[in-house]
This record gives sequence, C-alpha cells and structure tokens, in this order.
Amino acid sequence: MKSPKTRFWPVAILMSLALGACGGSPSGGGGGASEDEGVSVTMLSAAELSGPKAWALFGAKPEPSSGPAQSWGSYAKGCAGGLVELPETGPTWQAMRLSRNRNWGHPEAISFIRDLSAQAARQPGWSGLYVGDIGQPRGGPMKSGHASHQMGLDIDIWMLPPQRLNLSRSERESISSISVKTSDQRRVNGNWSPQHAAILEAAARDPRVDRIFVTAPAKIAMCQNARPSDTAWLQKIRPYWSHDYHFHVRLKCPAGSPGCITQTPTVSQISSGGNGCDDTLTWWVTDALAPPKPSPEPAKPAPRKRGKARSRAQPPPWRLERRRRVPAQTDGAARPMGKFRLGRDGATPEFRAIEVTSGAAGEGFLPSSPRKRRSPRFAGKKVSGAWRCCSNPGRPAGYL
Ligand SMILES: [Zn+2]
Repeated sequence: MKSPKTRFWPVAILMSLALGACGGSPSGGGGGASEDEGVSVTMLSAAELSGPKAWALFGAKPEPSSGPAQSWGSYAKGCAGGLVELPETGPTWQAMRLSRNRNWGHPEAISFIRDLSAQAARQPGWSGLYVGDIGQPRGGPMKSGHASHQMGLDIDIWMLPPQRLNLSRSERESISSISVKTSDQRRVNGNWSPQHAAILEAAARDPRVDRIFVTAPAKIAMCQNARPSDTAWLQKIRPYWSHDYHFHVRLKCPAGSPGCITQTPTVSQISSGGNGCDDTLTWWVTDALAPPKPSPEPAKPAPRKRGKARSRAQPPPWRLERRRRVPAQTDGAARPMGKFRLGRDGATPEFRAIEVTSGAAGEGFLPSSPRKRRSPRFAGKKVSGAWRCCSNPGRPAGYL
C-alpha cells in the first residue's frame, strides 16, 4: 500500500501540466508549482484537494495567457492559450452579457464572427448579430451554462434579430433573446424567418465551421426545400436539445493547434454522407418528445433477496428513463447538465483527486453516486481523458 503522499504526486503533475498548457507558462509544466496560476500544485494533500475547483481557477483569470493562440483538448474538456477578445461592439455585432467575461475566442473564431455578422447585416431586418458566450479568457470549464465552449472555438449566436447595435452594457444584461420553436417543441414559430435560415446557411458553408447545433424544428424547416447541392453544408446543421434561443457554431481545430482533438464522429459519418434530413431528425420531434409509455400493470414482485444484483433483463427505472431521453446519436455535444454533476460531498480522498485532476482538464462530470465513482473502470476512463487534454503525451498516466 502506498503512502498518501506517494499516491497524490501524479495528481500534482497532472494539475500543473493542465494549467501550464493553457496558462501559456513558458516552462511548459513539469513538477513545479505554476505561479502564474496562483496555485501551488507541487504536492496536494487531502486538504488541498478539497480546494478550488478547475472552473473556479479558470473563471478567476481576467486575462488570456500570452503566447501563440492554441486550443487544447476537446470542446467539452479543454482550454486555450493566446485567446483574443471579441470587441464589445463592432460594425455588425454586439457581444451580450458582458458581465460574464466570456467574449474571448481563438483568433479564428473572432474573424469568423466578423465575417458572419457582416453577412447577417445584409439580411432585411438584421443590423448584424448579437453574440452570446464564446469562452473565458483561458477557455476551460465554466461555473455555469455550458459543458463545452472550453477551447475558444464554440460561439453562441442569438436568434433575436438586432434592431440596433448601440445597446448599453446594462441593456445587454437585461435583454433576452427569442425562441424560434413552438411551445410543443415540434415546429418553428412565427419568430423563425427566411433570414434565420440564410444566416445559418452562410455559417454552415464557411469552411472553418465543423458543425452547428440548433433546435430540431429549425433544421426541419431548412430541410423542406433542400437540394442535392446543399448536402455538404446542410449536414453540418445538427439538431440538439435547447438551441431555440440561440444557435451554436463549433469551429474545426485551427491550424497551429496540434493539441486540439477533432470531434468524432464527423458530421459526414453521423449523416452517412447525407444531409441529415431523415428519420434521425424527425426523432427529435417525435420519440424524443413522446411521453413515457405507461408500463403494464406489474405483477406483484417477488421479494428481493438480500445482496442479489438486479437482472440485466429488468433494468431499474432510472436506466430506462435515460435510455428514452438520450438520443441515438448525440453528436458528442454537451450532456444536459446537473444529472451527472460531480457530488461535492462524501468523496474519498482518491476521488477528490480525480475531481481536481479531471476538473483541471475541463471534465465536469462524474457520477453523483460515491459507489459508482469508486468504479475503477470509470476512474481510469476519466483520468486518461484528462491526461490527453493538456499534458505531455509521453508520460504514463500515473496511478489513477
Ligand atoms: Zn453554446
């Protein structure tokens, strides 16, 4: 049995590598503390492991790191160096909710917004775009609102057509966007317009764009007059939960970011080379919204024997519920938050270690049940993912 001191050192290295990679530290990590991040990570005791969470460390940084722009990791488990700020107001855009300080992105994201907003401003009734969250100054996980947006490559764009681009700071906090779907979630409503479709098409045609998440009724509307020549861009428009008040543009890994992990499956793989206007799309407005089927009156269950595991043929109700609600193909995008959020209490020191380690790499999800968190299968998976994000890939993953 290793001593606690020995057991924690790999965690310390992981933490320092993660913050070093995204903090632009010239030393590039290693065993030393990262002073730039204001946190000592050379040796973490159990008490220290209950300290600040990764989202708190990333969220506390008001400025980006210096150095070249680089995105690290994956969209929902990453960070970024050398990000730049989207100017709060430009000729064809305004950044919204400035108090969040999430108008930072990879330079390619900023130039994409300049270009798309200029195209939007040519649409009748649109003076440009209202831009929602991009990312924090150093990317990374956030306290609230998103599972992705961690590499400076995800951009939320409001559905509300900007009437003017001189909103004050306080107006940008109080104004709300509009939804483009009906309350039964099956169709677009009267807010949806050909201009929305044209702006989404322009975004999807941009070669920098990997995919765009939007509410399913919007894609269904766009499928109605689809021509064969639209396939390549239309397959990038992906239906997903929410995304009726905004759409979410995800850029491809930019040149010069070798640590950026390309998302798989690709949109071409998901849609089998088609445009995605198929039954995987209608699933979102039929099965995904269907009320749970009433189960037939169960026979009186036999008393459960103590210690006997449930049969796999009769999964517990929560498992059935998840199967029903999770789509057949999710694009690997953000999971609805909350359900799998890491519990803050009751974790053993080992699992507090995982929380810090994986949190530093942007991982925010672990099972809420301490019993499940203790599963070696789960622990290994999460930690190896964290290791891949912001570290020297030549090193072994350590004891976890
Ligand atoms: Zn988003």
